[in-house]
Amino acid sequence: MSHLDNPFSKPSGEKVTCLEMLQVILDGEATEEQHLYFKKHMDACMPCYKSFELDMQIRQLIKSKCCGGQVPEDLVDRIKSQVNSIS
Ligand SMILES: [Zn+2]
Repeated sequence: MSHLDNPFSKPSGEKVTCLEMLQVILDGEATEEQHLYFKKHMDACMPCYKSFELDMQIRQLIKSKCCGGQVPEDLVDRIKSQVNSIS
């Protein structure tokens, strides 16, 4: 009955949440198919769009400030939770 097969689907048939999809994308582990699917999904899903944009902005900001070094995951999380608590 699904209108579109979700490339994020697990073999178990378990439903994939927005957060799980977002995580795969942000980890850079998504396939091209998954990227396309998520792009479409973002058009319809504001929370996903916002958190994706936010994450990218934070990562770019940190990269530009920190000599292009690795971005510590916990730092990204900390900034995000601070931003979320404001808005
Ligand atoms: Zn979503």
